[in-house]
Amino acid sequence: MYSFNYHRPTSIDAAAKLRADAEDAVFLAGGQTLIPTLKQRLAAPTDVIDLGAVAGLAGIDINDKRVVIGAMTRHAEVVRSASLRKVLPVLADLASHIGDGQVRNRGTIGGSVANSDPAADYPAAVIGLGATVHTNKRGIAAADYFKDLFETALEPGEIVKAIEFPIPRRAAYCKFPNPASRYAVAGVLVADFAGKIRVGVTGAGPCAFRAENLERALNAKLAPQAVDEVEIDYERFNNDLHATAEFRANLVRVMARRAVAAMLAA
Ligand SMILES: Cc1cc2nc3c(=O)[nH]c(=O)nc-3n(C[C@H](O)[C@H](O)[C@H](O)COP(=O)(O)OP(=O)(O)OC[C@H]3O[C@@H](n4cnc5c(N)ncnc54)[C@H](O)[C@@H]3O)c2cc1C
Repeated sequence: MYSFNYHRPTSIDAAAKLRADAEDAVFLAGGQTLIPTLKQRLAAPTDVIDLGAVAGLAGIDINDKRVVIGAMTRHAEVVRSASLRKVLPVLADLASHIGDGQVRNRGTIGGSVANSDPAADYPAAVIGLGATVHTNKRGIAAADYFKDLFETALEPGEIVKAIEFPIPRRAAYCKFPNPASRYAVAGVLVADFAGKIRVGVTGAGPCAFRAENLERALNAKLAPQAVDEVEIDYERFNNDLHATAEFRANLVRVMARRAVAAMLAA
């Protein structure tokens, strides 16, 4: 049997206070990671704080230069948003390839970014688009956010409120999905900000990272074949039952090439 206190606060401040007052509490968003973790007895919190009723945490806000997505926004809402598709189609496309319909209907962008699974898709967009993670305490630049395997700059009890994405001129995301879960064995997002290329990689390493060597090659020549000669350092890449580190390095190159081709064709 599970044994914990369940809370459903309606404000961020109340959620933060519950977290501070409890012995060992966790936040619940879409539950797609947390619930299996509890079921497998890998975590046994004293308190579960459901963010589902917290006001102002869900929704997509768009202006000329920025898209701000509330932490409790489900992947399916990102896929469905016609206004988002107009200004930042790469994000709707990325979300459409997350898991399956059930996962997309429950999973949230805030949960994904807070959890920082090495194979999650959104982190490639956070890095590749140079997003800012807004919490109840501060804004954290993408470069400072992902630290290591399931480790971010979030302090204990800090709540992700929204993710703010700058809008590039064009961008594309390609991943090699695990055939069972659809998580990224390797995924690459390429973005063109007025001629300056950014590249975010997920799946390959312990957490998402910016591939500056690919950026240099693409800034010199924006063409799919520009990545062919780039050396991908895989020393710190994941080496597990899904793929070897060396294979992942090859996937990064192939996904980068496909993403560039897709971006140029759009
Ligand atoms: C079968 C399956 C397939 C999947 N496939 C993919 C895939 O292809 N690509 C992909 O990217 N993901 C995939 N996922 C992951 C899924 O899409 C969710 O993004 C992920 O599980 C976390 O989001 P959640 O809203 O469910 O968070 P939860 O499970 O509720 O929470 C996850 C963690 O984040 C913390 N947390 C949640 N919200 C916040 C917040 N606002 N502030 C601070 N901390 C918070 C929680 O305390 C918990 O520790 C898959 C999941 C499953 C079960």
